[in-house]
Amino acid sequence: MGTEPKEPSGSRDDLAAALEAQQFFLVYQPTIDLETNGFAGVEALIRWRHPSRGVLSPEDFIDELEESGDIVPVGRWALETACAHGAAWHDKGYRFNVSVNVSPRQFSFTGFHDDVANALSESRFDATLLVLEFAQGTLTADHDATRGRLARLRELGVRFAVDDFEPGESALDELEEFSIDIVKLDREFIATLATSSDAASLVHSLVQLSESRHLQVIAAGIEDSDQRARLQNERVQVGQGYLFSKPHEAEDIDRYLEDFAIFSGKPL
Ligand code: C2E
Ligand code: MG
Repeated sequence: MGTEPKEPSGSRDDLAAALEAQQFFLVYQPTIDLETNGFAGVEALIRWRHPSRGVLSPEDFIDELEESGDIVPVGRWALETACAHGAAWHDKGYRFNVSVNVSPRQFSFTGFHDDVANALSESRFDATLLVLEFAQGTLTADHDATRGRLARLRELGVRFAVDDFEPGESALDELEEFSIDIVKLDREFIATLATSSDAASLVHSLVQLSESRHLQVIAAGIEDSDQRARLQNERVQVGQGYLFSKPHEAEDIDRYLEDFAIFSGKPL
């Protein structure tokens, strides 16, 4: 007592209070159509404006939210907030995907379907523009349960993305099994493109397959124009990464969209 407690990361009480105190906020990172340079969508990414430690990234607190189960209410808040922003952009005449990350614990929570349904109905956001992003491991933990949960969610009209995807034989079968709409190629995998011809040929096969299965491929974590050129060469449709834009708060995305509409010269 008397001295401030040390906070190696968010303590349980901190995290529970943070939602109440509205210290969480979302930033949005654009995805870009690599062929047209058009705006393809945004991914919502959570941040915590900590009263004493400044703005924290998910790596500082997401594991603790997951372990304690607080990810369920915080994830619900993220869904509601992203849908509300998505609906506001849609009302302004922009039509693009809004992706929200879903953790393993959220996905296995029995009320998750209701959380998604409520976020959609309260915001009146077009369900076909909401993309739920899952890590591969979240889906593969229990194949039967996953299939059932995804089927019920799909009835709402939402779409599914697999995050941090590393192409490989078995992984492709899972995409088919779970009727995945979008695969996001992992940033670390993208980083190997310049040095590995295997990586390029894996992208090549994935894109070929995606074209016959109506699967969209997004390359995440594009940091330089060499990576962009290689991906375009393999006909990857959509990219995301610091080369195009870092994540920004919703108001900054509004400004970004206005500028975008000006230089692309067409409605988005
Ligand atoms: P993710 O879904 O793979 O998100 C991409 C991460 O890569 C983001 O980090 C983003 O800022 C970063 N990134 C994007 N482009 C680049 C790039 O070109 N270079 C580099 N070095 N990094 C890039 P962030 O925001 O720190 O998020 C980390 C992870 O936290 C996310 O990984 C996601 O798994 C998780 N997360 C974020 N928001 C939420 C949320 O609302 N709910 C849940 N359950 N998880 C979330
Ligand atoms: Mg993601």
